[in-house]
Amino acid sequence: MRITFLGTGIMGAPMARHLAEAGHDVTAWNRTTDKARPLAEHGVSVAEDPAAAMTGAEVVVTMLTDGAAVEDVMREAAPAAPDGTLWWQASTVGIAGTEALVALAEEHGLRYVDAPVLGTKGPAEEGKLVVLAAGEDAALDRLAPLFDAVGVKTIRLGAAGAATRFKLVMNHWVLAVTDAIAETIAFAEGVDLDPAAFLDAIGGGSLDIGYAHLKGPGMIAGELPVAFPLKHALKDADLILEAADRHDVDLGLARVVRDRFARAAEAGHADADMGMVVAATRPAAPAGGA
Ligand code: NAP
Repeated sequence: MRITFLGTGIMGAPMARHLAEAGHDVTAWNRTTDKARPLAEHGVSVAEDPAAAMTGAEVVVTMLTDGAAVEDVMREAAPAAPDGTLWWQASTVGIAGTEALVALAEEHGLRYVDAPVLGTKGPAEEGKLVVLAAGEDAALDRLAPLFDAVGVKTIRLGAAGAATRFKLVMNHWVLAVTDAIAETIAFAEGVDLDPAAFLDAIGGGSLDIGYAHLKGPGMIAGELPVAFPLKHALKDADLILEAADRHDVDLGLARVVRDRFARAAEAGHADADMGMVVAATRPAAPAGGA
């Protein structure tokens, strides 16, 4: 299929590569063009602007930071899309974001598919994402080979909007787990214990979780490769609270978690991995140092 891929960041670049490697004709665009250029080695054409990227598109995929970025880029790209182009919206944009983008799709005669993904940098690079797909059945059938090219599993959730709500439920879990690991490590440190003993103690037991061993050592060391930027976790925390408000659900834990991510961002960790939320959890250094 002729695919236009808009946004080749941490997630978008490997997804575009897998689509090209599966035999599709992929043209990619990224605001910072240099980040898209290495994709040429994998058979992806690189366009200089979003409208130019749309020529002949059967499918457009958006994988950008948030709803506002997707809307800005698609306002430029959509007028150049052939009528009836399928729009796989993969970014995490929340409920209001999805409503705005569905309206934009209708304005331009595009067929909107709400299909954010679960997984992070590693699974994206390995083509092992889980695709959460919602929209018309015929559109989902047509996109199924594309979902298979980037993922191990597609979960169909119903009409557009349902996949976005499910993604927020899943990210509520991810953020809460990350914050619990971070706070437990900081608590151990704060009471003069080696936090690595916490990871050892849960290992293999019923309270163990793989994520603790994936992120925990880096949290302890204060150094983590960026898989999911903390600023995006904060964005998602706000989207979770927006969804809870709309549906009249009282998420006390999510508010606490959101504030901790906000403090970590304010402390200079916005572009670091989300695991650096641990920095906002550690007790402040005693005055005078040491
Ligand atoms: P990323 O590496 O920060 O990439 C963000 C992309 O959006 C870049 O291509 C960036 O362009 C572009 N962008 C941002 N603002 C823009 C604007 N105003 N106009 C045009 N382009 C703009 O983020 P990512 O991790 O790939 O995440 C992309 C989406 O997937 C987000 O919605 C995120 O929540 C979601 N997601 C991420 C993960 C993860 O683990 N990383 C997992 C699942 C879902 P530049 O390169 O020019 O900055």
